[in-house]
Amino acid sequence: MLELRDVSVSYGKHLALENAALKVGKSEIVVILGANGAGKSTLLKAISGISEGRVTGSVSLGGEHLTGLPAHRIVEAGVALVPEGRGVFGELDVIENLLLGAYATRAQDDQQANLDRVMTLFPRLDERRRQQVRTMSGGEQQMVAIGRAMMSSPEILMLDEPSLGLSPLLSKDLFASLKTVRDAGIGILLVEQNAKASLAVADRGYLLENGHIVHGASAKSLAGDPAVQAAYLGGK
Ligand code: ATP
Repeated sequence: MLELRDVSVSYGKHLALENAALKVGKSEIVVILGANGAGKSTLLKAISGISEGRVTGSVSLGGEHLTGLPAHRIVEAGVALVPEGRGVFGELDVIENLLLGAYATRAQDDQQANLDRVMTLFPRLDERRRQQVRTMSGGEQQMVAIGRAMMSSPEILMLDEPSLGLSPLLSKDLFASLKTVRDAGIGILLVEQNAKASLAVADRGYLLENGHIVHGASAKSLAGDPAVQAAYLGGK
């Protein structure tokens, strides 16, 4: 289980995240909902060891402390990030991008099994193994980014706004594929502005407002909460 206690992040004098606490278990999808600038990316970067700010508090995975470790050690411990904007290499093809995710020692023996798993999860990538990624659609590039993170054999997969720029239909497909990942025993921490599609697949969720986690509940109860509906579901 991934556990955060009292995690705060400041950029100079600006406190962007204050005393965040959350848990993500094996085989669960947890979504963090928050508006632009609420601190969602700040939170994921702090967990991944790539924060540009000053991070305090405790991040642990299965009791192992990750706080302060460099990013590659955090991947090695089993936490992988799909960054906002995907971070794929457009000049490289699908397989080359996927293999870039496989450098972790923890994943080396499982490279072929992980590749097979990614191709089963996203048959579209299997059809386009040697296609240059920059020529692919936004949805396909997002699959490459998720696939690359899966190549590191993560226990926890974190995604920063994966639905950004995707059509509602593609977003729905993408979120459905996250359920398959979860059902394979991986915990998912998702940050999103798209409350509707993410709450539809999540097990639990937290609301992040101005750097504070103000509420945590089951996805079902969040989706039915009038305040959440007004703030994140367009009042519907
Ligand atoms: P978005 O959806 O726009 O990415 P977010 O919820 O991910 O929003 P963050 O990017 O985490 O929000 O930003 C939270 C706050 O921290 C904002 O006020 C932002 O301006 C500030 N911030 C983020 N990164 C930095 C940085 N590297 N240096 C200084 N301030 C930053």
